[in-house]
Amino acid sequence: MEYNADNVFAKILRGEIPCKKIYEDDYALSFYDINPKAKVHALVISKGMYRDYNDFVNHSTDDEIAGYSRAVLKVADILGLTGTGYRIVFNTGKDSGQEVPHLHAHILGGEPLPVDHL
Ligand code: AMP
Repeated sequence: MEYNADNVFAKILRGEIPCKKIYEDDYALSFYDINPKAKVHALVISKGMYRDYNDFVNHSTDDEIAGYSRAVLKVADILGLTGTGYRIVFNTGKDSGQEVPHLHAHILGGEPLPVDHL
């Protein structure tokens, strides 16, 4: 399956749609989720055009994987979650309910999180 650059996160990366930015570097852009599922709910999207976690790990460089992974942790730190804890979610493919076909991590925290699916 080809990457489709019409998705909302590609538009945010191109500056066509605004976001509430938390962090940005060469590998990632982070902003608040528009429909938060926890007291703190951030997204970290890759700068590279990858559909999902499968595509990212299969086709990115080691530098991209390291840079993106460090950006996720950096965002958790900026949000003050590293002490109290947080959850990272990569919805991937149909059964996960993934809505936006551009690699993104959800970072959830700021309160005790429900454990029903994990
Ligand atoms: P997923 O189901 O893993 O693809 O999650 C997509 C997430 O993107 C959802 O939690 C949405 O609330 C969020 N979202 C969609 N559009 C925007 C937007 N323009 N700005 C911020 N978050 C968005």
